[in-house]
Amino acid sequence: MRTKSFNSVLSKYKAVFLDSYGVIKNHAGLIPDVQKAINHIRLTGMPLRVLTNDASRSPLLLAENFDKLGLRGIKPSEIITSGMMAKEYLVNKGKKGKVAYLGTNNSADYIRDADLEPISISKVNEANMHEISAVVFLDDEGYDWNKDLNTTVNLLRKYQIPAIVANSDVIYPVSKNNVAIATGGVAGLVENILGRDFIHYGKPDSQMFMYGFEQLNKIRKFNRKDILMVGDTLHTDILGGNKFGISTVLVLTGNTSAEEAQIKIKATGVIPDYICKSIVE
Ligand SMILES: [Mg+2]
Repeated sequence: MRTKSFNSVLSKYKAVFLDSYGVIKNHAGLIPDVQKAINHIRLTGMPLRVLTNDASRSPLLLAENFDKLGLRGIKPSEIITSGMMAKEYLVNKGKKGKVAYLGTNNSADYIRDADLEPISISKVNEANMHEISAVVFLDDEGYDWNKDLNTTVNLLRKYQIPAIVANSDVIYPVSKNNVAIATGGVAGLVENILGRDFIHYGKPDSQMFMYGFEQLNKIRKFNRKDILMVGDTLHTDILGGNKFGISTVLVLTGNTSAEEAQIKIKATGVIPDYICKSIVE
């Protein structure tokens, strides 16, 4: 499959979903000239949504972070996170009381937004364990991987409460050649120990795509064939977009390099509709 110019692909669609990490930014900061790409999308007048497997902070803080990096004009209301899906679960399931979380204080905003009381896993002990109504894995930092994971295992052994993984990614790139263990990797360890599958949110699952699709349809009528999903990862962005029935673009600015794109596509059977070098070119 030959790479195409992003703008020529975009011109066939009426709305666009962009992944964040590996598409708009990466470990080094913003993708060079990404402001030009966002400006172009704005010029077309088409709605844009950022779909990110990130539960470490709220859309408000993520929008502020884009701004701090120097990217202007992404509104918090345009950002859809896997953390928001976890929040919806807590609201819809009518959870009450304290929700234990693995993550930073920023990530606990998702529990506060559900009108529930967050309690850091580091504050959970024998005396208050019975008050916990759910456990949410929000981030890979903000807790002690030894002490607090032991608390998590014991809490979930003793009490029949749901465990929610708000970001299923197992690793994320931190430099050209190195990765770090992500939230889904930490949760996977606990799932493995308990022999239990937790409730997972984030791409490739359809909830975020559905949420974005419903938001667009509040603006005006959109069909799935009008929407383009852009991502750097085959098994999340592209698989999720394909399953949801929207067109997909693989970009080569993140997880999938130009050298390995064809091999990975062949090996996984996850086939994007297009490949573009980046959203800028
Ligand atoms: Mg990505």
